[in-house]
Amino acid sequence: MNYSSTTDKNNIVSSAQAISQGIAEDGGLFVPMEIPQYSKEDFQAMLALDYRARAKKVIADYLTDFTAEEVADCVDNAYTKEKFENENPTPIVSTKLNGVEMNILELWHGPTSAFKDMALQILPYFLTKSLAKKYKGKEAVILVATSGDTGKAALEGFKDVEGTKIIVFYPQNGVSPMQKCQMATQEGSNVDVCAIEGNFDDAQTGVKKIFTTQSVKEKLQANGKLFSSANSINWGRLLPQIVYYISAYCDLVNSGKIALGDEINVVVPTGNFGNILASYYAMLMGLPVRKFICASNANNVLTDFINTGVYDRQRKFYTTISPSMDILVSSNLERLLYIFSDGDDKKVKSYMTALKTEGKYEVDNTIKAKLSEKFFGGFCDEESTKQTIKALYEQSHYLSDTHTAVAVNVYEQYVTKTGDTTPVILASTASPYKFSKSVLSCIIPEEELCSSEFDMVEQMNKITGVAVPKPLAQLKNKTVRFTNVTAVEDMPEYVLKVLGVE
Ligand SMILES: *Cc1c(COP(=O)(O)O)cnc(C)c1O
Repeated sequence: MNYSSTTDKNNIVSSAQAISQGIAEDGGLFVPMEIPQYSKEDFQAMLALDYRARAKKVIADYLTDFTAEEVADCVDNAYTKEKFENENPTPIVSTKLNGVEMNILELWHGPTSAFKDMALQILPYFLTKSLAKKYKGKEAVILVATSGDTGKAALEGFKDVEGTKIIVFYPQNGVSPMQKCQMATQEGSNVDVCAIEGNFDDAQTGVKKIFTTQSVKEKLQANGKLFSSANSINWGRLLPQIVYYISAYCDLVNSGKIALGDEINVVVPTGNFGNILASYYAMLMGLPVRKFICASNANNVLTDFINTGVYDRQRKFYTTISPSMDILVSSNLERLLYIFSDGDDKKVKSYMTALKTEGKYEVDNTIKAKLSEKFFGGFCDEESTKQTIKALYEQSHYLSDTHTAVAVNVYEQYVTKTGDTTPVILASTASPYKFSKSVLSCIIPEEELCSSEFDMVEQMNKITGVAVPKPLAQLKNKTVRFTNVTAVEDMPEYVLKVLGVE
């Protein structure tokens, strides 16, 4: 199977190349040129498999230039019981809110307690194997600019992976105390973390500049190294996310919640549109999904897009209590536009160009019709997010993080509006302990909150009895390893110094 670019159909590469490059030279995103098709019998056969075996099947069907042993090696290294505290890395908890049943798919049992682990634990293995096929013997240097979650998940994923080095930049005053501590105490012999004097945009612009600076590239090349990316538009990050929707469906059949062949709905708290798009790919493969419910916070650019067909990023940016969804340009949407326009690369390119130059675009009527047939878009403000956390906890003793709460709220809106109570898989994307202050203040009065983030973790555990994920509980006792701060203009020198190629 090959992959082509969303903005240039003639740019065709193998999966190893798509993963090594991350993004196409023409600026487009790589998409699979065919979609593997699963029949009812295929799903039947998968019922008896565990998560890892299901993952091996799905991944092997997409990465056809990997051997079965290579795929197995990636999966077995990524989804271990030690790393995910569970035989099944993505357990389902069925709960109820106001009489509506929800199957909550918990995607955050990995080492950093956020769903990004599902992709970033396996990407390093995809990447090193892809590079070995294409650029044998080179060391891959991963540069990441992060607003918090991605950086930590990438560090944990690449930690001590042979043939790789990872450097993460974060805004000095732009991450939570917990996130800062998670990164500053990072273990591993091939990792480096540095704060920058600037905001997240400065960090991102700085990293992009290093990627494209010829003199820096040449220095790396001369030393047997090359830059690579763990960015969320890499196909290697999307593919592992398809697996858990298929696996969750099998788990629901096995638990008797649904019968094989029954339709389900999917609800996803959305930012960059990667997670929900993965569920759409699962449907294209044969998973019976009736509706995709796309949940946004106050940054509701996707809600408007689904309802009107106009994508307009020129709007106020809100900083919310669900920060991983504070996004105005959802990059992975480009892949859906490609699918909905039946692979019209010129059309996709014209939309993306308009987005860059005018800040908005409007899709044609055919795409609008497809959008409203399969997608429901809704959003939830801060107050409703908090109310939802409180109500879910009080009614069902389920403690949800802020992002998951947005999804629960929008799902309630959907059921009220449509009366559609098709069994649902609702993606839960972070542990409530990752956002202890926001979550705790929904269930006890503000004045009773402990003062430090760490104390709040213990306080929430005492009050709710909900277990604290081990990696977060252990954080307090870890040694701080990284305290460097650099000016934005000094980022290239910093990278060369860390790599020892000044
Ligand atoms: C990244 C993230 C999201 C958004 O996921 P996308 O794939 O970007 O839509 C939602 N919740 C949490 C906790 C995240 O870290």
